[in-house]
Amino acid sequence: MKAHDGMYIGGAWRPAAGQDVIEVVNPVDEQVIGTVPAGTAEDVDAAVRAARAALPGWAATPPAERAARLSALRDVLAARADEIAETVTAELGSPLRFSQAVHAAVPIAVAGSYAELAATYAFEERTGNSVVHLEPVGVVGAITPWNYPLHQIVAKVAPALAAGCTIVVKPAEDTPLVARLFADAVHEAGVPAGVFNLVTGLGPVAGQALAEHPGVDLVSFTGSTAIGRRIAAIAAGQVKKVALELGGKSANVILPTADLAKAVNVGVANVMSNSGQTCSAWTRMLVHREQYDKAVELAATAAAKYGERIGPVVSAGQRDRVRGYIGKGVAEGARLVAGGPDAPREKGYFVSPTVFADVTEDMTIAQEEIFGPVLSILRYEDEEDALRIANGTVYGLAGAVWAGDEAEAVAFARRMETGQVDINGGRFNPLAPFGGYKQSGVGRELGVHGLAEYLQTKSLQF
Ligand code: NAD
Repeated sequence: MKAHDGMYIGGAWRPAAGQDVIEVVNPVDEQVIGTVPAGTAEDVDAAVRAARAALPGWAATPPAERAARLSALRDVLAARADEIAETVTAELGSPLRFSQAVHAAVPIAVAGSYAELAATYAFEERTGNSVVHLEPVGVVGAITPWNYPLHQIVAKVAPALAAGCTIVVKPAEDTPLVARLFADAVHEAGVPAGVFNLVTGLGPVAGQALAEHPGVDLVSFTGSTAIGRRIAAIAAGQVKKVALELGGKSANVILPTADLAKAVNVGVANVMSNSGQTCSAWTRMLVHREQYDKAVELAATAAAKYGERIGPVVSAGQRDRVRGYIGKGVAEGARLVAGGPDAPREKGYFVSPTVFADVTEDMTIAQEEIFGPVLSILRYEDEEDALRIANGTVYGLAGAVWAGDEAEAVAFARRMETGQVDINGGRFNPLAPFGGYKQSGVGRELGVHGLAEYLQTKSLQF
């Protein structure tokens, strides 16, 4: 148990304004592993002031120098990859191998991609008799969740810094330790004082104070749709920009010509990965009626294999919420073919990898985001029916299509109301824009589209 002090503000760890702390719990054994200060509006104000003071200098720093700092940051993260993975495993509970391969490796790749983009991006364009300058939006307030705790911070900080913005980050209360480690990495990378600031604290206190602060020009939020809606309302009152990465209920559409076993196995792995705590997870599997029974059998077998390998979910509250959804699935008439609501272990926030068959569109488990290792398998009659079901939620973050022929899968994917689709098991690309249609959000992260969120245009006419 370690009591961590201070907020990273203006280039140094400074004492928090108040005395309250947040306990960080290891979800595997339920032990308190540390505490961090619970920030107040006063801490947020100090951080925003530091970010404002640093803005003119950083905005005027040549992109090549900003790129050099991001490149140094990438190197520090790479050098500390083991420590990052161990920290995420301790506070999120994900198996160490997954923490190494994803929670540590992806942020390194993203930081590297923005080092390159900062160096090569055209921050000036010509159109007719005008020169258009792409200037930083200003001070960014970033509010992040716990499910990919470092990735979600880096996916905001790296493009913001590349654009010339300064930033205040309020990380999720469940996973503040990797955020503190990141602040040390930023410091080590030689990023000037005040360009990056970190305030740990509770959402309704520190998070809300950050969203409401008049010194913040853009609020970039990743989290639930419910809180995203509140943040957007606060921002609207001040006509401040927002970027929102929210929930999802993505469809994995298996067309009749697909390799069924591969599509089902990859689909189950996708949902069980990170214990189902992935906003872009394909939590609805759509299978043609003639292949339905076979798909259910394959999915049940695949899910059972995850029994011992899967990590816990992040907290007791999250575990209870996920189990509540499993109970609701049973109550509404879906058929359990793997897992269930019972606790698989005595200690830790574990949930059994769960698969429901005979799920219909109107059921709660087919509509609401569960954020746990729970897969719903739905039956479709024909392609039009599959499309209607795939598009039949308020969300539109991600999805997958499987078909014998790539062109067939692409044609279907083009009709889906969603921000990204993996074709026949396509791999994650850290340069591809990530973000949602419909209530899955506003704006995009990653790559050049992610950089654009942090820029505004100024046209000079000649
Ligand atoms: P959450 O919305 O409860 O919390 C997210 C962040 O918002 C945390 O830092 C929290 O402290 C803060 N917050 C909470 N209340 C606040 C308030 N009133 N004002 C300001 N900030 C506040 O979400 P969560 O439970 O931490 O994360 C899970 C959710 O995040 C899921 O719904 C998931 O789909 C979503 N998510 C989306 C993406 C994406 O990119 N689209 C990525 C990851 C997670």
